[in-house]
Amino acid sequence: MITPGAATTAAIGSLVLTAALLVCAGSASAEPRFSFETTPGKLPKDVVPKHYALRIVPAATYDRFDAEALIDIEVARPVPAIVLNAAELNFNSVRLRASRGDETSLTPSFDPRRETVTLTPASAPIAPGSYRLGIEYSGKIGKHPQGLYQIAYKQREEGRLAEKLMLATQMEPVQARRLFPGWDEPVFRATFEIVAVIDAPLTAVSNMPQSRVELRPDGRKEVSFARSVPMSTYLVGLFVGEMDLLEDSVDGIRLGIHTVKGKRARARYAMEATKEVLHYFNDYFGEPYPLVKLDQIALPGGIVGAMENWGAIAYNEGRFLYDPGEDSLRQQQGVYGIVAHEIAHQWFGNLVTMAWWDNLWLNEGFASWMAGKASARFNPRWGTPLRDALWKDQALSEDARRTTHPVQTPVENDTRAMDVFDAITYAKGAAVLRMIEGYLGEDVFRAGVRGYVRAHRFSSTTTADFWHHLSGASRQDIGKLVAGWTEQPGYPVVKVLQRCENGAAVVTLAQERFTLNDPKAPPLTWNVPVILADETGARRTVLLERDPRKLRFERCGAMLANAGDTGYYRSQYDDRSFRRLVPALSRLPAPDRLRLLSDTFALVQAGRADTTRYLALVENLGAETDRTIWEHVTAALRFLRELIDSPGEQAVFDRYVARLLETPFASAGWDPRPGEPADTPLVRRSLIEALGRAGHEAVVREAQSRFAARAQRPIDPAIRPAVLNIVGRYADPPTFDTLLERMRSAIDVADKWEAQSALRQVRDPGLLRRLMELMLTDELPPSDAVFNLTHIGDDNGRVELGWQFVLEHLPAILAKASPRGRPHVLPDAASAFTDAARADELIALTRAHLEAPALYQAEKTADWIRLKASVKTREARRAIGWARARLGPEQAGTREIPPPLPVRERPSPRSRREGVEQGKAQFAAKQ
Ligand SMILES: [Zn+2]
Repeated sequence: MITPGAATTAAIGSLVLTAALLVCAGSASAEPRFSFETTPGKLPKDVVPKHYALRIVPAATYDRFDAEALIDIEVARPVPAIVLNAAELNFNSVRLRASRGDETSLTPSFDPRRETVTLTPASAPIAPGSYRLGIEYSGKIGKHPQGLYQIAYKQREEGRLAEKLMLATQMEPVQARRLFPGWDEPVFRATFEIVAVIDAPLTAVSNMPQSRVELRPDGRKEVSFARSVPMSTYLVGLFVGEMDLLEDSVDGIRLGIHTVKGKRARARYAMEATKEVLHYFNDYFGEPYPLVKLDQIALPGGIVGAMENWGAIAYNEGRFLYDPGEDSLRQQQGVYGIVAHEIAHQWFGNLVTMAWWDNLWLNEGFASWMAGKASARFNPRWGTPLRDALWKDQALSEDARRTTHPVQTPVENDTRAMDVFDAITYAKGAAVLRMIEGYLGEDVFRAGVRGYVRAHRFSSTTTADFWHHLSGASRQDIGKLVAGWTEQPGYPVVKVLQRCENGAAVVTLAQERFTLNDPKAPPLTWNVPVILADETGARRTVLLERDPRKLRFERCGAMLANAGDTGYYRSQYDDRSFRRLVPALSRLPAPDRLRLLSDTFALVQAGRADTTRYLALVENLGAETDRTIWEHVTAALRFLRELIDSPGEQAVFDRYVARLLETPFASAGWDPRPGEPADTPLVRRSLIEALGRAGHEAVVREAQSRFAARAQRPIDPAIRPAVLNIVGRYADPPTFDTLLERMRSAIDVADKWEAQSALRQVRDPGLLRRLMELMLTDELPPSDAVFNLTHIGDDNGRVELGWQFVLEHLPAILAKASPRGRPHVLPDAASAFTDAARADELIALTRAHLEAPALYQAEKTADWIRLKASVKTREARRAIGWARARLGPEQAGTREIPPPLPVRERPSPRSRREGVEQGKAQFAAKQ
């Protein structure tokens, strides 16, 4: 699964306590290999499901469904009752028929908190044997992506906008129990046969191909799907709607991509990517994709990322469709990456499944690593490892805080499973795999992966199973070597100390645990493969264990650790070595430039270096052209800017940022130049965005006039999000209305997101209030509304205003949020604060308004706010002082920049996207 949460979270509370216990147990691999009986979970293991036959009949209103489940079960020993999962289901009847034929009815007793139901016979216990459990029931179809849900979207029909609905499912982690009663824990594998009764003109897609379609006298049809392979409940998928189909095949596997009407052509790129990676994976794993077909569905809403349902992968169309004429390279790269990730899951997760959520990284870390590998292999010019390095950086940041957790983290309660979908599970997991692969070599590593997949296909595993196969392939005890990376929280900083002896260098390497704000963290060590490179480019790999190591190089000079950025750690150089690296910066390969910048900034955040060291490094970038590096730098500058409280000083820092970025922007320019590198448009977008944020007058004016002239000259898609954000930031009421119309009339998710992002930038307090009040209405899908409300403060810098609005309307906003999203409401709205008092307020409010499990997210954000508060005490003055000194007396005054006036527009739509607002006008006329 790809979720927005995967990018922004870490852990606390009970998880941290159990993590501390794990640490005490030492770093040697402590986890046993998979066994069904000892796998954690809340359901008893003496009754197991073998097969589900499900018949789902959605009501015409799409708000509820009727259903029947026939579940074949095996009872291993006499049990007083059968316990399984069910959430918000109403049972009409429950029958249990033994294989010899006698039938009894069972009485259900629901436990809504545990999301279980206990089925009890009238008299004697249930004897061991095979049974068929028959349940007639009904359930809800909601608007949040949980279980079976509806997606509302707009579609252009004969020049008008029509309102449409489709049905989709989202089961992971624990939502299948909202569609059918069952054993909703990953270790309970069973086969499925699904029947859906739907309106005849609609299409239904599920995990398996359709096996029969029968028309009924009432105009509906009954669609039956073939019996599935044995799989976990969280992988079940069912989608119903008016859809277009794009078909193809690869290696004998039938491929289908379903989009809403009219969008099929934009799925062609995803189809090409699918063929490429599916073929590659068939070869890599040595175990072919096991189903006869693979469908992919581009949803016009619902989930924000993607879900790897076996044979029926679901995506938000905003991350899946790609139009070469209208979309950016960034979109194209994103599509490739997400397709590769979800298809990798067909092996890592679907074919071989983690036994329990504590080993989620076996799904997500592996799929993330594999997606990066495939993307880099087939698109060598995209700089995929660098993009992944930015993601790794996010994990390195979360993993250095007080609230971190090990990759393998105990999840004692399945309703808390969602908490582990974070950057540590995904990006640290992937980075650790990359590090091990780099250490063992690609061939040995692949042999281990193949052995693992072959041995555990259609079964479950723990991490110990993977180490076992890797040990077999490499003939060394891999668990002992690497388990510290997955069983311990955090990571080391490698200290590099260089001493010159008669011109030769003696380099001492030593490690200690790196934290941003947790000086009392248990002192751990890791086995770190360190790759050192000297000025001549000579590289040496050493395994740094607990004790420091000394190495000799022929010559003194610049010495780089973690060369190639394949390691998951930070490096800290002695002053002299650092000074040697600064002038060498622009000559280093891009991954090393990024690593040096990022490590230096992390050292600043941790209080191990000061801001001026980082800013000096940035000023040394010269004619840097790499987009990931500018993305890192602009994010770091934004972090520093947030620490400055006074508006006058903010303006000084803004002017410094504007001046700093003018140089690279002068070489990127506004418009594509013939023969420019493919990445340049992405650099352009980052710099325009940052310059707009800093209030650079010429950039703001140009963005506004490009927006005004968009009908005559469509805005280059590569920079359009940045241009719209600037336009939104300085919008007056008419411009605000135009953006609002753009959002309302968008028929593509990507356009809607773009318009919403622009609206969230609005600085004018009156307009901001209008926007937030609109979000309280039912106009937008509830998850969009909540997202906008809780991110407005962060996006436009008016954190206090956004926060107060959220507090004023907290009950209404919490009611709008999904149960899964509710714990994020307050933390998201508070995350841009930089005062410790706000952290306390966040915790107090969470305790007052939410249930205990929500504290987990609040603690993480509170820790982040406190971290920023402590960096502020140390660094805010230094950053301002540096900016003043660089600007010179004329520019360093605390004059604020008045917002430029918007340029008026000249409408006359031309392209598909620029036609969006026209479509809205026609829609209004129809009303
Ligand atoms: Zn995933």
